[in-house]
Amino acid sequence: MILAARNISKTYQNGVKALHNFSLELRPGMIGLVGPNGSGKSTLMRTLATLQKADSGTIYFNNINISKDETSYRKTLGYLPQDFGMYPRESARSLLLYFAALKGIVGRRDRSIAVDRVLETTNLQSAQKERVSSFSGGMKQRFGIAQLLLNQPQIIIVDEPTTGLDPAERSRFLNVLRNIGSECIVLFSTHLVTDVQSLCKELAIIDKGCLIALASPESAIAGLAGNIWETTIPDAELQVAHPDCINLSDHYDDHNRLVTRLYSKEHRGQRFSAVQPTLGDFYFLKLKTADS
Ligand code: ADP
Repeated sequence: MILAARNISKTYQNGVKALHNFSLELRPGMIGLVGPNGSGKSTLMRTLATLQKADSGTIYFNNINISKDETSYRKTLGYLPQDFGMYPRESARSLLLYFAALKGIVGRRDRSIAVDRVLETTNLQSAQKERVSSFSGGMKQRFGIAQLLLNQPQIIIVDEPTTGLDPAERSRFLNVLRNIGSECIVLFSTHLVTDVQSLCKELAIIDKGCLIALASPESAIAGLAGNIWETTIPDAELQVAHPDCINLSDHYDDHNRLVTRLYSKEHRGQRFSAVQPTLGDFYFLKLKTADS
């Protein structure tokens, strides 16, 4: 199973170029699409979900152009937008039974079995009698996943599902994605690279509408081994003395000193300490070097 976006470009009516010649091949498993706000993640996801058309380029599912039979393609698709926005004062179970009927699951017993299955996958069994309107943000997001799982989609597209969730809810949500299994293509977008680290087999980085990196988290980190350093040298001094270092990020240490994390192929003396690379380092390095 392959979902492929080939040379997708999209310019909105106000002149914003959201996607430039964007190509990406997705195979079963979890793929994290990471990029800053405004980099084109939602535009790509809405295009893959057939909710908007690209100006040029083609989407293929198993090598068939999806525009040839959009109805069949849509049957294989589950899409959760950034704001699902539909939280009536009905219980989760009765709403899911209703959605199951809308999605064409005919027999009463089959609907009930499907609802039990998705409640279990999303870990909402114990809350099934509660009104969805009373759910926390994380439960609402899991409910969004439950409804899209009813018709067993092969492709699942989830747009920034962890935004606004507290760390515990975020981790519960990511565990639900993990439960979905490796037979589906699961593409989810996030601006938190840490969401991707433990969960995804592949990380795709998008910036200014272009794909700037595609790698497994392990290979991304391994490729930086020996090249990531920390220093407390002030930024102005670093720029003069070490202009070819690439500053990645900074943070304050326990002594309230500003520590700069940077990329350098060579050791630059005792004021620099070697540190273990992270996926965040890879992400910032790709963003900083994308234009060069
Ligand atoms: P992301 O999901 O990464 O935040 P988006 O795909 O939402 O990025 O947006 C990419 C760019 O396109 C941004 O500059 C955004 O302001 C612009 N954009 C998104 N949707 C529209 C729209 N409907 N009309 C005009 N500009 C849009």
